[in-house]
Amino acid sequence: KIQLGFILLSCALRQVRERLKKDVEQMKLQDPNFRPGLVVLQVGDRDDSNLYISMKLKAAAEIGINATHMRLPKTATEEEILHSITEVNENSSVHGLIVQLPLDSIHKIDTEKVTNAVAPEKDVDGLTSINAGKLARGDLGDCFLPCTPNGCMELIRQTGVSVAGKRAVVIGRSKIVGAPMHDLLLWSHATVTTCHSKTTDLPGEVGKADILVVGIGKAEMVKGEWIKKGAVVIDCGINHVPDETKPSGKRVVGDVHYASAKEQAGFITPVPGGVGPMTVAMLMANTVLGAKRFLESHQPG
Ligand code: NDP
Repeated sequence: KIQLGFILLSCALRQVRERLKKDVEQMKLQDPNFRPGLVVLQVGDRDDSNLYISMKLKAAAEIGINATHMRLPKTATEEEILHSITEVNENSSVHGLIVQLPLDSIHKIDTEKVTNAVAPEKDVDGLTSINAGKLARGDLGDCFLPCTPNGCMELIRQTGVSVAGKRAVVIGRSKIVGAPMHDLLLWSHATVTTCHSKTTDLPGEVGKADILVVGIGKAEMVKGEWIKKGAVVIDCGINHVPDETKPSGKRVVGDVHYASAKEQAGFITPVPGGVGPMTVAMLMANTVLGAKRFLESHQPG
């Protein structure tokens, strides 16, 4: 039995990071003053967002991306947030802009309007309707793929299991995880079923999956006995559960019950340490891609 274990995962991550570092070096050869630029826009001061942003900034620095953390206070209005986004859209030294969600403001903010204000060519989270629409229609080369599902695809590739012709099941249909995951698997030629809170027989659907991707947000909900023997299981969940043995009084678990699922699965990603770090790596990959596209479209002659 092969687990998508720690060694394979860290190899996969290292491979992606090394490739990106080389790409950045290559761009510097073209223009010594050029560096890919990323802006992370945060509204408010949520602890979880602070942690995710610090991981993104660290990953960017390692690869040679010039990352800036732009902070707006909790008192920021929708208009002020939109104004900051426009400023970054117009700044030609920035090739990627992400708005850290959820927005932590005392005002009522239309998140959809805010994410759609990001210029599609800088939308390295792949969350604008333009990029999501291109992905839904299979125009994969012409958009930014959302980082978590793109990371899941990278992890599936690492297993060596081919996707074409397989039965894939996605649990969740959010804009950030489930819906784009469905699209990516579909355009990789799997036969895809997407489950959600109104699905009547979740264990039955899960049992048909050769490839199972889970993004529910419910601790250890998917049980090992639901899973088909030998399936590839990718767990996107990040849930905090009480644990008195930890100094923090809690620990992180996925949406899959790992202990029972690993007995059934051919490959399974752990939480923490699976999809999370790969998601950050994919954000860096999208930023480097944005920078490359910028250089190509601004070449002299
Ligand atoms: P959302 O809450 O936006 O979506 C959850 C989805 O799960 C919805 O489509 C919902 O269905 C479905 N769902 C809820 N309850 C059930 C149920 N009982 N049975 C079947 N489906 C159900 O969450 P996200 O997509 O944003 O995140 C999902 C998980 O992934 C979370 O744990 C989150 O922390 C994690 N995550 C991890 C990231 C990473 O970098 N590793 C990045 C982003 C998220 P319905 O549409 O009907 O409501």
